[in-house]
Amino acid sequence: MDDAVLDNYILAGKIAAKILREGETRIRIGTSYLEVVESIESRVAEEGAGLAFPLNLSLNEDAAHDTGSVGDDRVFARGDVAKLDLGVHINGYIADTATTVDLGSNSLLVEASYQALEHAIKTVRPGVSVGDVGAAIQYEIESRGYRPVSNLTGHGLDRFVIHRPPTIPNVRVTGGVILEEGMVFAIEPFASTGSGRVGEKTKKEIYQQISNKPVRVPSARAVLEHIRDRRGLPFARRWLPDKKSDIALPGLVRTQHLHVYPVLADIAGSLVSQHEHTLIVTGDGCIVTTR
Ligand code: MN
Ligand code: MN
Repeated sequence: MDDAVLDNYILAGKIAAKILREGETRIRIGTSYLEVVESIESRVAEEGAGLAFPLNLSLNEDAAHDTGSVGDDRVFARGDVAKLDLGVHINGYIADTATTVDLGSNSLLVEASYQALEHAIKTVRPGVSVGDVGAAIQYEIESRGYRPVSNLTGHGLDRFVIHRPPTIPNVRVTGGVILEEGMVFAIEPFASTGSGRVGEKTKKEIYQQISNKPVRVPSARAVLEHIRDRRGLPFARRWLPDKKSDIALPGLVRTQHLHVYPVLADIAGSLVSQHEHTLIVTGDGCIVTTR
């Protein structure tokens, strides 16, 4: 890997780690969900970095893809399990990292995804199959009595690209990709008290442009204009200027200009924890950029 590229990944990781640590301390019983989201997002610009995706803040059985909306009046409550998932980029080079804040008494659940991530990182070096990384995750979570979420995975990263091969499973698989020096990816184990599978909720807050085809409808064209500087990175419905753009979103999904990321949840009443780091594979192991 080019030194300049490496420097960008390292700087993005350092900034992401710092803001995530600060962000954790803001999540307390009685504080406003939307205020936490907006304050953490604004810290990224203050540090001179870009947001790789809207801050994901997903509660309890929701595993991923929730974020604040305009007028969101949620307040953190006793017992909440909050996943804070932050993406920062420097010149398009991304750091993706997540942690869980426990406002109840679920420390063993939180420990499960934490230890799964730490043990997974220890397996990473050239020649190892991603299936073996998944096996380490599965073992740490199941041995504590929880289920790894099998249909959420870690993912390769590239410049202005948030998801690309390799896929890093959260369970043992056979025939997975073999890791090579220079690969950049995120590992993100999820531990659940529920089924270990997530499904889509109807709530949709996060979108991403996937096509540059022209659009005729003015309100739809205005949305694409507004998000052009995202360069294909995800954006939040909350970031759009008005109600009209909100109404244009379903049409843009239908015409495949936008991809939508619905909130993903395990069964109602379950609890999910998550931890995530971004790594670069080296000759004999890896660099964790987001520590
Ligand atoms: Mn993430
Ligand atoms: Mn990720």
